[in-house]
Amino acid sequence: MVSRVIPVDDFDIVIFGATGDLAHRKILPGLFRRFVAGQIPATARIIGAARTEQDDDGFRAEAASAIAEFAGVKKNDPHLAQFLELLGYTAIDAKGEGGWNALKSRMREGAVHAFYLSVAPSLFGDIAERLAGHGIADDNSRVVVEKPFGRDLASARALNQVLARHFDEHQVYRIDHYLGKETVQNLMAVRFANILFEPLWNAQHVDHVQITVAETVGVAGRGSYYDKSGAIRDMVQNHMMQLLCLIAMEPPYHFDPDAVRDEKLKVIRALEPLKPEDIVRGQYHAEGGDGSYLDDAENPDSRTESYVAMKVRISNWRWQGTPFYLRTGKKLRARTSEIAITFKEPPHSIFDDSGVPKANELVIRLQPNEGMNLKVMIKEPGPGGMRLVQVPLDMSFAVALGADGADMPDAYERLIMDVIRGNQTLFMRGDEVEAAWAWTDPIIEAWEDSKRRPEPYDSGSSGPEEALRLMHRDNRRWRELRA
Ligand code: NAP
Repeated sequence: MVSRVIPVDDFDIVIFGATGDLAHRKILPGLFRRFVAGQIPATARIIGAARTEQDDDGFRAEAASAIAEFAGVKKNDPHLAQFLELLGYTAIDAKGEGGWNALKSRMREGAVHAFYLSVAPSLFGDIAERLAGHGIADDNSRVVVEKPFGRDLASARALNQVLARHFDEHQVYRIDHYLGKETVQNLMAVRFANILFEPLWNAQHVDHVQITVAETVGVAGRGSYYDKSGAIRDMVQNHMMQLLCLIAMEPPYHFDPDAVRDEKLKVIRALEPLKPEDIVRGQYHAEGGDGSYLDDAENPDSRTESYVAMKVRISNWRWQGTPFYLRTGKKLRARTSEIAITFKEPPHSIFDDSGVPKANELVIRLQPNEGMNLKVMIKEPGPGGMRLVQVPLDMSFAVALGADGADMPDAYERLIMDVIRGNQTLFMRGDEVEAAWAWTDPIIEAWEDSKRRPEPYDSGSSGPEEALRLMHRDNRRWRELRA
């Protein structure tokens, strides 16, 4: 049971950076899959733009190869030939003056206009200025920008200002692809479409929350990029912050872009500054040397963290006293993303000799095998009297909904269609991004000022010992990392 496909309005989308990796791996295959699903009108136009000199046919051949590779289709697939008809290409240097009028002549009046800036953020200003200067973008156009949105508050503010010179906030779509994931949106459905959880969703009933994003891969191949970023910039400031917000926010008055984003912003503003004892940084290490972070990162002396665990407190009425533990890292034991809400134990047990009831736990799995698991106490079956046992009520969304994973739109597909529809709910607002940096900046600065090195942890482990101690200190433990 996959939801009905509702076609979007006719559109022209210009992909700046159309010859790049992201366009090849995600944007073009994503548009192709939405075309095959019947969501994209046959009149839509997809215009590639980059410095590489080539004509429409050259770009179509390039797109065909990328789609064949990353969408897993054969080059002779009849849908592919139809899709390629929508494609065109204009060679443009973002910093030069050539090509802009040619681009303008390709844009149709009456169609939605979207500009996807799949280029380095240093080019956002050049492109925005020329789109406006040549009369290509107008008040109804949309501009899509990629992560990373800055590397600190100052750079994020500068990017916001550059975009604000030519686009209103309602035209700017800052992508965090995590927000396009099915289960991430399900967090809102679970919380706000059921009466069951919300009355318990507060410090009175929730002992603590764990948010985990664990990867098995290291940084080999992108070490020079990652080394300038690290886990806090790469994962915490954006993806994990978004997950935290969706779990912790108050119910918005309506499922409306600004109502949802207002509530997320309030959570970020309520985050207490992190204490030095509440954060652990790690770097993966391989026995025998080869394959350690320091080999992958090129800089043999790097202090960049490939792992971080932190205890986060939210200073508001709902969450006062309930810690949120976040951890993310590379080269860990399993690839898994999940949010676990551990409720408090029942205040009193009536079952004297038959075992103490354990705390209920709700685990929302984002990957792999998206779904939910609620641990409840029941009576152990059999004649041996009243003995208690904890069992999982386990639900895989794919099984429950009969959805074939192959039919589920990927996060990018969903988000690009939202851009065309003009729906910003799943995109970060400028003030939200700035607030997230305002909270992470002091954490990063304190580390940069210190002389400390990240704690080493073995590749394939659960992370550094210190991170275990962060939990033990509070008489808690991390959930086991399992794929
Ligand atoms: P990339 O492979 O290096 O591609 C960059 C693109 O920009 C190329 O198409 C390049 O084409 C074009 N370009 C460079 N200078 C230009 C100029 N002066 N004028 C016009 N076009 C220019 O980078 P990418 O990996 O696709 O990433 C693009 C953006 O997405 C970056 O901001 C990145 O941080 C972000 N992002 C990427 C990924 C990913 O998985 N790749 C994931 C998340 C976010 P020409 O050389 O032909 O001009």
